[in-house]
Amino acid sequence: MVSETSTVENYLGFPSITGAELSKKFEEHARAAGADVLLYKGIMSVKKAGNVFEVRTDKESYSGRTLIFALGTKRRQLEIPGEKEFRGRGVSYCVTCDGALFRDKTTAVVGGRNAAATAALFLAKHCKKVYLIYRRDRLRSDSILTKRINDEEKIEVVYNSNPLEVKGDKSVKSVVIETRGRKKELAVDGLFVEIGAVPSTELAGKLGVKLNGENRIEVSPAMATNIRGVFAAGDITNGSNKFDQIATSVGEGAIAANSAFRFLRGIKD
Ligand SMILES: Cc1cc2nc3c(=O)[nH]c(=O)nc-3n(C[C@H](O)[C@H](O)[C@H](O)COP(=O)(O)OP(=O)(O)OC[C@H]3O[C@@H](n4cnc5c(N)ncnc54)[C@H](O)[C@@H]3O)c2cc1C
Repeated sequence: MVSETSTVENYLGFPSITGAELSKKFEEHARAAGADVLLYKGIMSVKKAGNVFEVRTDKESYSGRTLIFALGTKRRQLEIPGEKEFRGRGVSYCVTCDGALFRDKTTAVVGGRNAAATAALFLAKHCKKVYLIYRRDRLRSDSILTKRINDEEKIEVVYNSNPLEVKGDKSVKSVVIETRGRKKELAVDGLFVEIGAVPSTELAGKLGVKLNGENRIEVSPAMATNIRGVFAAGDITNGSNKFDQIATSVGEGAIAANSAFRFLRGIKD
């Protein structure tokens, strides 16, 4: 999610900007262009009534003749004992939201791709020590990030390892890991899970939108789904060669919005 991204350094026009700042700019721009921004309203259901789509929150409903799904992804979980129990008490899925709470503490990040590497580097600014626990024997982050990880003395990469259990009392105290068949307990105050994300496609699936084998929404080059009037954009789709980035999501969003406009005007492709 854009707002959870620490520093964005690859979005054209903004050499370095935090995800929160960039989100704010997007919102301000949308409002200035006349968009009715209904932020922070969780959508509970979507259904079709005649040729109108109805979107409901817990209290309100909104309807329209077209719909664009742009719900992104949600974090994949470890599904190990203690993970749910200590969520919000040391277990976190958002380093930019919670990382600063662990100033001068010891933390661990689980994962080995760009998100995990970025999280570990972010934590290293605040924590006295950061373990990066990864199941493979080498990181799969971009080379520039891997170099930064290797150059950062506070980060210790624990290869060939899987977390088995989170332990603690009021809050997290340790994580039990398995390294090549051997169990070990690392004393940590926080555990950040960065093992990827799954597309938020439940609402689309219930509406009958076609999903691919990875649970992403199947879209045409015009960002149209199999249901007339329904479009999709961003990480939730199988578009853009699945190069999940802000730039590609914005591009897909522009195409989806134009397609919705053409649909409403009855313009045929
Ligand atoms: C740690 C991390 C670092 C990243 N760094 C970069 C980077 O440096 N540069 C880059 O280009 N990309 C980066 N990305 C990827 C980028 O954030 C995504 O590709 C992009 O945000 C996808 O945009 P989106 O609009 O599809 O989804 P999102 O940005 O995820 O937006 C989806 C929105 O829908 C909301 N939503 C979901 N379900 C519901 C519901 N039922 N009701 C109401 N709202 C709902 C979510 O809360 C969210 O606000 C990073 C991602 C991560 C996780």
